[in-house]
Amino acid sequence: MSPIVSAQHLRKSFGDHEVIKDISFEVAEGSVTAILGPSGSGKTTLLRSLNGLELPDSGVVEIADARVDFAEVTPNKRGRLPREQRAALARLGAQSGFVFQAHHLFPHKTAVQNVTEGPIVVQGIDPAAADAAGRELLDKVGLAAHADKFPFQLSGGQQQRVGIARALALQPRVVLFDEPTSALDPELVGEVLRVIRDLATEGWSMVIVTHEVRFAQQVADHVLFIDGGLVVEEGPPSEVIADPRNPRTREFLRRIL
Ligand code: ADP
Repeated sequence: MSPIVSAQHLRKSFGDHEVIKDISFEVAEGSVTAILGPSGSGKTTLLRSLNGLELPDSGVVEIADARVDFAEVTPNKRGRLPREQRAALARLGAQSGFVFQAHHLFPHKTAVQNVTEGPIVVQGIDPAAADAAGRELLDKVGLAAHADKFPFQLSGGQQQRVGIARALALQPRVVLFDEPTSALDPELVGEVLRVIRDLATEGWSMVIVTHEVRFAQQVADHVLFIDGGLVVEEGPPSEVIADPRNPRTREFLRRIL
């Protein structure tokens, strides 16, 4: 099957610290890729590069029919990106939904208003239709009864599930998760992982940065193990997690499991 995401030769430095050193990978449509690796290895930077939240110094990202060659994305003399580059980045960004570590919900909007904001403002969907679709999405993440509550009335796990519904609302081709459970109390992790597992069963294409190795083993079709800004090992979880070849992968898993 042709890939829904293709990242080729991505590089990114912050100052003289090269955080991503030539990373390439692909995500097959309908599959789940888990990105594992030690803290500071570049996982979040890589994920954010896939939708232009971070601008790699070079490399190409393609998602569905959007393509950005980051070597060409250069600010003009006034420090702004030229219009056609901004348009290309917006097209790329529109292909993915992003679920942040902490949910980033609008505090003064209800759950359903948080979910419908994007469709109404970005896509110009009729508010009544967006509201109906938003309630359906909240039902999918187990929050039908909480649609009209404000974030402060919801638990951390419920807020994160609203964040997932919001990421799905723009009907992205792939959903990107940045450590979606790392900010949660342990007893709330399961409900969020359950929702992600359901989405995998439904055939959503997903890329998940996670420290939940057991979860990655169950849900992922493909695992990238990243260390020092490089993919040091990749393959199915039955290899990378259950039977790692690379000594760095082995050491990481020995410490975390
Ligand atoms: P991980 O997700 O694997 O923990 P990150 O991608 O968050 O790793 O970070 C990789 C490295 O890049 C870290 O050393 C981090 O401090 C650095 N880094 C990330 N974002 C920035 C930034 N905006 N400015 C400077 N350094 C950054």
